[in-house]
Parts: sequence; structure tokens; C-alpha cells
Amino acid sequence: MKKLSLWIGVFALLTVLVAVMWGQQIEFVLGGAMINIGYRLQDHLADYDLEHHEATPPQIWQRFLDQNHMAASVRSAFPRSSRHPVVAMVACMDGRLDTNEIAGDTRRYYYILRLAGSVLSEKEEEMLELAVTNGVKVVVFTTHTDCAAEKVAADPQRSKSFPKLTAAVHERTARFEEFLARPVIQERIAKGELLAKWMDLDTMTEEVVPHDSK
Ligand SMILES: [Zn+2]
Repeated sequence: MKKLSLWIGVFALLTVLVAVMWGQQIEFVLGGAMINIGYRLQDHLADYDLEHHEATPPQIWQRFLDQNHMAASVRSAFPRSSRHPVVAMVACMDGRLDTNEIAGDTRRYYYILRLAGSVLSEKEEEMLELAVTNGVKVVVFTTHTDCAAEKVAADPQRSKSFPKLTAAVHERTARFEEFLARPVIQERIAKGELLAKWMDLDTMTEEVVPHDSK
């Protein structure tokens, strides 16, 4: 009997130790798993509201408003923390990319710039610099596979209909380099206070790998 209570005591102590050491990690992973259950529940509802085949623009708009209202009521009942972002991410506007999934995180530690073809303009370069001076320590610049903007830019016929987009995609590398060459950015990178990475995203899995410049 004494032996049993000793083992129960040891087990209880170990449980408390595990909860203290890995409690937050367990909560984080469990939260992610539950979000994924939500995605799985909604993902296959292709004919529900927004995408049912005869939906007119006013119907879609109304559904958008209804869904927003529903989401906002949930948010007012369960407010979320506001945090100071430490990462700024640039991503294309492609609807298949989900920045929460790319970061694997829903805690809003991220500034997100969604841009057609991930092409920065001077306005965005300034905005990123402002984010860096406000505490961002990592800039993740992403481009992705199967990008519609890239396809248009590579197609001599279709690029005639979208000349500005085509020109923008062709100057994407120069724009990113222009951002890196800004004095504040250069200085922070040199001091080890900032990392700026260009990553390629797999559109289907959203995994990032270092940019292949060829
Ligand atoms: Zn794209």
C-alpha cells in the first residue's frame, strides 16, 4: 500500500513537472490542432453560400456581411490580446496563401503586406522600414509557386493586357534589393539586429524554402 501511494505521489509530481515545463507548448499545439479541426469542418462546404453556383454579387456581399457580423460577435465575446509584431511578412495576394498557416501561429506577432506578385513599391519599402524601427526583427519576403502574376508576366500575349503588373514583376528583385539597401535596414542587418530573408513558398503546403534565384 505504501509502495502504491509512493508511486502515485511520484506520478503526480511528474505530471506537475511536465505541465510546468511544457504546459504552454502543449496549449499551443492543442490550439493549432483545434483550429485545424475547424478548417476541416468548413473546407469541403463548396456549395455553401459564397460559392454556390447561382450566387449574385449582392447575395455574396450579404453573405460576407453576415459572416463578418457573426465573427465580430464572437470576437466581442472572446477578445484577443494585441501584441507588438516582431516579424513583417510580404506575401502575394493569392487566395490560397493563408498567412496564419505560413507562420503556423495565430497570435498576431506579424505585420503582413499582401501585394500582387509580392512586388514592393517605395511606399511599402518605407512602411517596412517603419515596422523595423517599431521593433520588427525579421522581415520575410516571400514569392510562391504557381503565381498568377508571374504567369501573366511570362506570357507575351497576356502581358499586353496587364502591362503595369508585368513591369512590376520584372522589377521585383530590384525592389527587394532597394529595400535592403536603405541605410537604416543595412545598418540593422550589419549590427545583427535584423534578419531579412527572401523565401519561396510552396502554394499547396505553404512550406517556405530559401529563394532559388535562377
Ligand atoms: Zn501570386
